[in-house]
Amino acid sequence: MKTVSNFDRIGEENAFAVLGRAGVLAAGGMDVINLGIGQPDFPTPENIVEAAVKALRDGHHGYTDATGILPLREAVSADLHRRYHTEVSPANVLIVPGGKVTMFTAILMFGETGGEILYPDPGFPIYRSMIEYTGATPIAIPIREENGFAFSAEETLKLIGPNTRLIILNSPANPCGGITPKAEIDKLVAGLSDYPDVAILSDEIYDQMLYDGEQHVSLLSYPEIRDRLIVLNGWSKTYAMTGWRLGYSIWPDRLYNMARKLAVNAWSCVNAPAQYAALEALMGPQSAVGEMVAQFDARRKMVVTQLNEIPGVSCITPKGAFYAFPNVSQTGWKAKALASELLEQTGVATIGGPDFGTLGEGYIRISYANSQENISRALKRMKDFLAQNPG
Ligand code: PLP
Repeated sequence: MKTVSNFDRIGEENAFAVLGRAGVLAAGGMDVINLGIGQPDFPTPENIVEAAVKALRDGHHGYTDATGILPLREAVSADLHRRYHTEVSPANVLIVPGGKVTMFTAILMFGETGGEILYPDPGFPIYRSMIEYTGATPIAIPIREENGFAFSAEETLKLIGPNTRLIILNSPANPCGGITPKAEIDKLVAGLSDYPDVAILSDEIYDQMLYDGEQHVSLLSYPEIRDRLIVLNGWSKTYAMTGWRLGYSIWPDRLYNMARKLAVNAWSCVNAPAQYAALEALMGPQSAVGEMVAQFDARRKMVVTQLNEIPGVSCITPKGAFYAFPNVSQTGWKAKALASELLEQTGVATIGGPDFGTLGEGYIRISYANSQENISRALKRMKDFLAQNPG
């Protein structure tokens, strides 16, 4: 048997391996606290669950249009208009089975041997994995602590060359919790006018999770790049729907049909009752979103305070998403070894920074999508572990 060589280069998302290992340890009787996986610990709001149940009872059991049901695509357009005062036609909205599917589709569309794709490092690991799968060369956009974990427009523009096909941006960001200020995005967009053939994929899946009064700046607000902009978004984080496998993307006219054809080839359409649930999520009351974000905010402050009380650990205050990215380099531990020992010895699951890219060495990712009580217990265990086990 001979499989294609591209599969030798496909990567992983270690958060799922850690989730599996945490499950095994918990089944063996360990008191595991999971600060590893990036998913809200809240249930999906009841009105959304009921909409899916109703859709099943109403007989929505068959295929839908490959692009998604029209009312849902219209609701996405209306939601983007309400939040960003931007016009997006439902004809440019594609409903997909999860946010990840948009990066998969976009990277397949632009990646091939000889091409280059820019991606954030540290960043969501699937960007690099998929770029390598296609044979394109991954070019890291450095995301630095001293820059508040925002990307720098100047640095990003300098990385663009004749072979650059696609630039992947993510703000608010996983794993560092950084947001990139509007002035920096303005600068980047202005600089991109020199490179009209370079496409942009803006991963805005955390666009409703900002703190301290920060406002999300959607790349959709820049008309000058709309003809080459792909936006990734979805319901997983905002409405606590990670297991429903739902997302949407916005494609420019000239790419939409290619994305639609990939959908027809790969998944036909998104699960029909899930689409009705997504419709209710956008059209129904939004109070649950604000309540979840308020809870994340309280945990964020707590996590940062408690991390900074651990000798050798320092953590800047993340401005978005639900991750903290503490610097653990002064503990003397390598980041992945520390994350692994914390799980095996203390039952605290975190993710080593290098799982998000080479610049992640010296950091671990803490997802604060867990109760305040569990976060406190976990960080106490981490503090005790480091006191007893200097690196
Ligand atoms: N993009 C980023 C930056 C993420 O952190 C995640 C999930 O963790 C995704 C996309 C994928 O979201 P989904 O679960 O909807 O596929």
